[in-house]
Amino acid sequence: MPTFEMKCMECGRVHDMSRPAYACSSCGNLLEISVDIDAARERLSKTNFASRRLSVWKYRELLPVTENTRIYTRGEGGTPLVRCDRLANHLGLSHLWLKFDGTNPTGSFKDRGMTMGITKAKELGMNVVTCASTGNTSASLAAYAGHAGVKCVVLIPEGKVALGKLAQAMMHGATVVSVRGNFDQALDMVMRSSDSLGMYVLNSVNPFRIEGQKTAAFEICDQLEGACPDTLYVPVGNGGNSSAYWKGFKEYEELDFVAGHPEIRGVQAVGSAPIAEMFAKGRDTMVPVQNPETVATAIRIGNPANWKKTIRAIKESEGTAFTVADDEILAAQRLMATLEGVFPEPAGAAAVAGLAKDVARGLIDRSSKIVCVSTGHGLKDPDTAIKQCSRPHVIDADMKALEKLLEDA
Ligand SMILES: *Cc1c(COP(=O)(O)O)cnc(C)c1O
Ligand SMILES: [Zn+2]
Repeated sequence: MPTFEMKCMECGRVHDMSRPAYACSSCGNLLEISVDIDAARERLSKTNFASRRLSVWKYRELLPVTENTRIYTRGEGGTPLVRCDRLANHLGLSHLWLKFDGTNPTGSFKDRGMTMGITKAKELGMNVVTCASTGNTSASLAAYAGHAGVKCVVLIPEGKVALGKLAQAMMHGATVVSVRGNFDQALDMVMRSSDSLGMYVLNSVNPFRIEGQKTAAFEICDQLEGACPDTLYVPVGNGGNSSAYWKGFKEYEELDFVAGHPEIRGVQAVGSAPIAEMFAKGRDTMVPVQNPETVATAIRIGNPANWKKTIRAIKESEGTAFTVADDEILAAQRLMATLEGVFPEPAGAAAVAGLAKDVARGLIDRSSKIVCVSTGHGLKDPDTAIKQCSRPHVIDADMKALEKLLEDA
């Protein structure tokens, strides 16, 4: 068996990895990369793996590249796993960490997938890459396309992309197309136009992106020195990242690098929650939300492309998906910023909002080891942050005025 194969997630049909493909030609389901774990273990044993610097490419032997592959990287991964004692105290918990992926080169976890995705795009000989995006995918793709010297076309929902993300896509030189519609409609256009226009799609339907993203799970286990969290809270939009985490934890367990795996608890925003709905109603199929809304624009997705993957992942982990309200997300964002010095964008606070809800509902063992994934940086969306805070105090350039202000405050 080859070390890596591109297979249909449903019927198992093997697809040629040297050609662009996203869906199975037999049954239409998404593709995934399967890793021969014994072969990977063998190759890892010949390296000084443990002493390598933490990063996506620390795990090169577990990623679908060859020794000859040219890697396009901007230093992604190796993000902090911050221990959150003040937040834990506030919530009445003993062991809480945040995996702060907002510290990636473009400020979100998307960079883990893009370093892998652009590396493959170049290997496949593609000259144009594309994606639909609520913001972070386009920011990341634009940056890596610039680095690799390929053209980049991004489709975004008009008026619904946070300011910082839009600035990034434009600054990195992408062709930015603002679609009068939502993310789901933009993705549909990308999928239908990519073949005829010769563009390589780097949305999370691309199986190589998931491979890059699974390294966050490896990092968490390494940062906990071979221990595994009991529970992982992760926001769910298209469902790529939650699937990727599960794939990573399972591979590490198969490698015997960690004992066990966490329960995955997926968090969606009320108003954009088709995955949580499936769990709440006990449904087997996903019913898309027609007009998704939430302040957490990165998870404002009504028709998650990876719904089958994420449902399978969450169920295998014996976890669930559930919702939090926008005001709970914003409250969690302020808690993280004020108690822990971590400033996430709203979607990057959804996991902590979910945890807080589970604590309030009595659904979590207070002494368990909990990791919340914080997916993107707060500077991405300054408008939402500023709206929540009181204005700065304005005074004359005068010591008396300052003293008076601080006395009153
Ligand atoms: C993309 C994104 C998500 C959602 O991830 P999915 O893989 O679509 O489920 C969550 N938070 C942020 C900040 C993102 O950029
Ligand atoms: Zn198939």
